[in-house]
Amino acid sequence: MKLKLNWKEYENAGLGDAYADIPKNGGDFAKAVAVCINSMHCLQAFEKSVMCPSYRATNDIHFSPGGRSRLIKKMLNNEITDEEQETLDKSMAACVGCKGCKRECDSALDMAQIKAEYTNLRNIYKQHALRNYSFAAISKLLRFNSFYSLISSSFNQFQSIRDLSGRLLGVNINAPLPQPIKSTPDVATVNDDSPDLLLFVDTFTKHFSPDTISSAVKVLTLAGFRPKLIGLEKNYTAGRSWFSQGYIDSARSELLSLLELVKPYLNKEIPLVGLEPSCLSMFRNELPSLIDSENALALSKNSWLFEEFIGKRIAANDFSLELEPQSDVKVLVHGHCHQKSLGALKSMRKVLKLVPDLEFEFINSSCCGGAGSFAHESEHEQLSKNMYELGLKQALEDSKESIVVAMGFSCQQQMKNHSQRPSIHLADFLAQRIKS
Ligand code: SF4
Ligand code: SF4
Repeated sequence: MKLKLNWKEYENAGLGDAYADIPKNGGDFAKAVAVCINSMHCLQAFEKSVMCPSYRATNDIHFSPGGRSRLIKKMLNNEITDEEQETLDKSMAACVGCKGCKRECDSALDMAQIKAEYTNLRNIYKQHALRNYSFAAISKLLRFNSFYSLISSSFNQFQSIRDLSGRLLGVNINAPLPQPIKSTPDVATVNDDSPDLLLFVDTFTKHFSPDTISSAVKVLTLAGFRPKLIGLEKNYTAGRSWFSQGYIDSARSELLSLLELVKPYLNKEIPLVGLEPSCLSMFRNELPSLIDSENALALSKNSWLFEEFIGKRIAANDFSLELEPQSDVKVLVHGHCHQKSLGALKSMRKVLKLVPDLEFEFINSSCCGGAGSFAHESEHEQLSKNMYELGLKQALEDSKESIVVAMGFSCQQQMKNHSQRPSIHLADFLAQRIKS
């Protein structure tokens, strides 16, 4: 069995009761799967929990973290039947990688990471290989912005092209493709080697919402910080889209290039700050299992979401920004699953309190069902919609006048596609309220 991720963290597993059921094959990967102690905690949905959207939307135990883990153990023990293997492939493909289990399972089972290894071992997307490769390679496709733009606008405009893409590629014909914006943000970036922070420009923000980069720079600069932008001119990615489709070598290679670039700043303990939760969580969570080096560990320990960076500075009495009061419209916050798994909603609360008189509320929802390419896969269309309807849809309907703040690009798309509800990034929300 050729494993691609470093499961070293689990190498000393097996000494305690919690790891009594380790499969015969699979080495440390088997140990990572064996952290599931069958508590069945993942079969319950608590009011504020994320875990587990695919189980909650199907009510099928095989689609729960524990159900998946049980079948993977059987697979690694060579005891799985063909029928069970087929079920497992389907349930792994239906795992949205939200990391709800990593945060909420009794044993912190990380099914999102296990899925990447499993996808690489089993090639679960082979039926739709071209489609999933295209999703994985989106950062490369977007380098040809006009070409990608032509594809997405043709898909969105012409029924015949949608039908053909659905038939040949397995693309969900009812989910419009996002349209890239062809403009470069007009921002001043620090050019010396001692900025206060590195602001990471991810693929999605850069191509689909470049104004958010200007907003983030404006907010940080007016608050007295000197951000240096990483990835604005030359492309650097966190490798998230590769990783979630099981292209582990490609994700690693993206991260190696980025590490090379940020190495001089790591030694100076300059933090890296990100705007898109799914990209930033690559640095915090996945990076050490992809690259075993001191630099990787240093970046993993010093990368923060935009709201976490500001939240930490507020706590240190080191952040001040004059913002206009807002009392007329309430804000609804939809937290991205990875934001929740990083525990960043506390910081969101701190940051939103900077706006005088603002009334805000966090939506109690699980994954929105967007989850990167998930909503665009024809076989997951219904499941994606069911996830959206787990709580998010109703919360939006109950508060029609509110401004929706959402940090995740996929979440924004999903709300737009299902409820025609616009939403904005926290950086834009703050920038719009800066006192002139
Ligand atoms: S995945 Fe976690 S919560 Fe679910 S049965 Fe296993 S240990 Fe319990
Ligand atoms: S990552 Fe999310 S969808 Fe996948 S098993 Fe864990 S909670 Fe369920």
